[in-house]
This record gives sequence, C-alpha cells and structure tokens, in this order.
Amino acid sequence: MLYLYNTLTRKKEEFKPINPPKVGLYCCGPTVYDYQHIGNMRTYIFEDILRRTLEYNDYKVKHIMNITDIGHLVSDADEGEDKMMKALKRESKGEMIHESSQRKSMVKLANKYTKAFQEDLKKLNIKSPNKYTKATKHIKEQIKLVQTLIDKGYTYETSDGIYFDTTKYPEYGKLALLDGQELQAGKRIDLGEKKDIHDFALWKFSQPNENRIMEWSAFGHKGFPGWHAECSAMSQKYLGKHFDIHCGGIDHIPVHHTNERAQNNCATGIEESVNLWMHGEFLVLDKDKMSKSAGTFITLQDAINKEINPLAYRYFCLMTHYGKALSFSWSALESAQNGLNNLYSEIENLGKKKGILNPEFKEKLLNSMNDDLNMPQVLALISEVLKSNLKNKDKLTTILEFDKILGLNLNKIKKQKLNIPTNIKDLAKKRLKVRAEKNWTESDRLRDEINKAGWIIEDTGDSYILKKK
Ligand code: AMP
Ligand code: ZN
Repeated sequence: MLYLYNTLTRKKEEFKPINPPKVGLYCCGPTVYDYQHIGNMRTYIFEDILRRTLEYNDYKVKHIMNITDIGHLVSDADEGEDKMMKALKRESKGEMIHESSQRKSMVKLANKYTKAFQEDLKKLNIKSPNKYTKATKHIKEQIKLVQTLIDKGYTYETSDGIYFDTTKYPEYGKLALLDGQELQAGKRIDLGEKKDIHDFALWKFSQPNENRIMEWSAFGHKGFPGWHAECSAMSQKYLGKHFDIHCGGIDHIPVHHTNERAQNNCATGIEESVNLWMHGEFLVLDKDKMSKSAGTFITLQDAINKEINPLAYRYFCLMTHYGKALSFSWSALESAQNGLNNLYSEIENLGKKKGILNPEFKEKLLNSMNDDLNMPQVLALISEVLKSNLKNKDKLTTILEFDKILGLNLNKIKKQKLNIPTNIKDLAKKRLKVRAEKNWTESDRLRDEINKAGWIIEDTGDSYILKKK
C-alpha cells in the first residue's frame, strides 16, 4: 500500500486513484524568464521520485507540466510588471525592439529558458512529463474558465481586471490553513479596488501605457490571464475536472495553489477537484529560501562548472526527505559527490554479472518508498545490501532494482567513473603487486602515501577500491 502526505489534510493517507491503474499528475512548471536554480530542481527531483514510485506500483501515470510564458507578475498580489516583459527588457539591454518583432523576441526568450530547463532535467535524470503545456497556447481554455466563474457569480470587475471574490467561497483558506484571524488581519491593509486582500486576478486588463506585447481580447477588454488561471485550465483540459495529484514547492501553498483550488472547486462544482496536494520543502541557502527574485541563485551549470556531477546533486537531494528543509552548501554537495562516487566504486567492484533480485530487500524497498517516499531509508538499504552476505551478482541485481526509483544511473557507472589521478592509480597498482609478493612493509608505506594524497585504498580480495577522503 502506498501512503503519501496530503497537504490539505496534513496527514499521510493511503493513495487511492480515481480510475486505477491510471493516475493524473500535475506539476507546476517553471516561469521561463530566467534559468531555474537548484532550489527549483529539488522540487522537480521530488516530483520525479513520486512519479517513479507510482510507476513502480504499476500505475499508469499521465504527467503534465505547465510552462508559464505569460501572466506571472512580479508580485503575488497581482501587481507589478509581468516577469516575461521584465526579462525581455533585461535581455535586450535597453535596445528598442521594433513592435513587429516584439512578439517573436518574447517567444524566443521563452524558448531559450524552456530549453535550458529541459536540459537540466535530463542531466538530473528526471523523466520528461508526458506533456508540457504552455500558458500562451491555452488562452481559450483560460477564458472559458473565467467565463464559468463569472456565470456562477464568483467574480467582480475593477478598473484593472476581473477578480475572484474569495468571500464567496468559505473553504478558501483550507489548504493554507488560513484561519479567521489571518483572514481578518488582511482586511486592514489598503485594498485599492479589491474587496478582500485574498481576492486575486483571473483576467487583467492591459493598461494604456503598458505596451504589452502579448494580449488577447476578452470580456470587452484587451488583456491577459492571471497566473493561477493557467494551471486550473490546463490541468482540467488534460487530466479532467477531478484528478489525482497536484504538486509544487511549499511556496505555492498560500497563494498559487490556494487560488487554483478555489478556481477549480468553484468552476467544476466538485468539492475537491484535486484528490491529493503534495509539496516539496525548500532548498535553503544561509537560512533563506533560494529565490530568483533575490538575485542570488545557483544554477545546475554553476555546479557543473565546479566539476560536480549533476547526479551528485540528485543524490544530495535524496539524502533528505522531501518534506524537510534542506540546507545547501558547496561543502555538503561535495561530500554528497564523494558519497556517490564511493557507491559507484563499490558497485563496480561487484562485477558485471547479473543475478537474482533478493525478495526480502525488494519488500524493504517497497515499504520505504511507499512510506511517503522515504528516500534516505532507501539509500540506507543500499548499504545494507552491500554489507549483506548475498552473492555479488545478486547484490548488483538488487541494487539496480533500487535504482529504478533513485535514478542515479547505477547501471552506467563507466560513464561517470570517479576521476582518479594517474599517480594514485599507479601507486595502487604498485601496492597490489607488492601485496602479491607479501611485502607488507612496502604495502603499508604505499597505503600511507595514497592516504597523504587525499585517497583511501580498501582491499577487496584480489583487488582494491579507491575512495576520495
Ligand atoms: P517558479 O519558476 O518560481 O514558479 O518555481 C518552479 C518550482 O520550483 C515551483 O514548484 C516552486 O515551488 C519551486 N521552488 C522555488 N524555489 C524553491 C526552493 N528554494 N526550493 C525548492 N523548490 C523551490
Ligand atoms: Zn501552477
């Protein structure tokens, strides 16, 4: 049985799909105005583990991810510039782009960052969603959603847009656990034309001096959809009005997902359109969340430039449960890389022959992953397999089974072997030779020399393993 933590109920619950064996999974994707940082990547790694776990449990997963290329404003309060417009200004370095090619430049910008994002996913061995859905390609669906909400009486109009009236939906604060007090506190803030602090834009009207590049005619005005509308419209289109799982990072709980849930439930009339809401905790840097808007973010490429294997970052993430905050530091990432390299060496040492999958370990694997994706426990199990008295070939087969979930490419070790300097390899070979001659004094001396150079040598019958200290 698979148990997953539901943010809405704050409980681990037994997972029960709506139409087994099918499972609909919607994951909020990137706003393509910049590179994604490794914090974002932590959330996508968590979602990948979730998908692999569902598939391992024989579910047929339909995985949808949106690409936000319009409508995400700098402030969560539906104000400020459009992030995409701001990025276009930044990238054109103040040069005037002729009106006729502005739209093209915007599409080019979105494509550039979408491609970079997808390449990062590949490097991290994250399975591609079954479909990427772009917000700009689903304007009709978003307009239809807003129209439904208008028809059902959940909206009002101000001079700058059509807003969702949160007071018409008493269950509004449930996902974020907003209690009455918080809802009241919001009321003291200057609301402008909004009736309530939590009300949010479904459709924004283009303003006279805004020079919007992307706008559409609807509701008697030129304008563009609010950010939350896209996820509701596209998840419904591809997964249906009632679907299984919706994921994202924890920052989405109070605003984006709270608003999406309100839109979905009010438009469809279903009590809970999404059965299970799941959220990944943040990667934190110096106790602050890593964020694009703060301007100090680290990309996967930054790590690669420091000779970090992207899969070492994946391994680093797997060492902590997705529901706990993870502190980032370069030294912690480097030790994760050493840990992964050691694992590669140990697996390589098992040889190439395949054996049988050990049923007890398979059962333990299932128990750990089905207990709300307990990856640290799965990693600990790998050490147990290595230490067990199974035959090497059975160990290898069992570990490769684990890798279907972990996705660390443990079957392709050759490609990402530990980079051992030639002088260390030579010392190790020399040592193997003197050991065969039973020259223990020279063998110990060579071990010390290897040690001093920052390496550890372990004997394994008639061979050895080299590990970085
Ligand atoms: P964005 O491009 O900002 O919409 O973010 C894309 C995904 O990354 C969303 O699911 C966010 O919740 C998630 N996210 C943003 N910052 C972090 C972080 N520091 N750690 C983990 N996930 C994050
Ligand atoms: Zn979303």
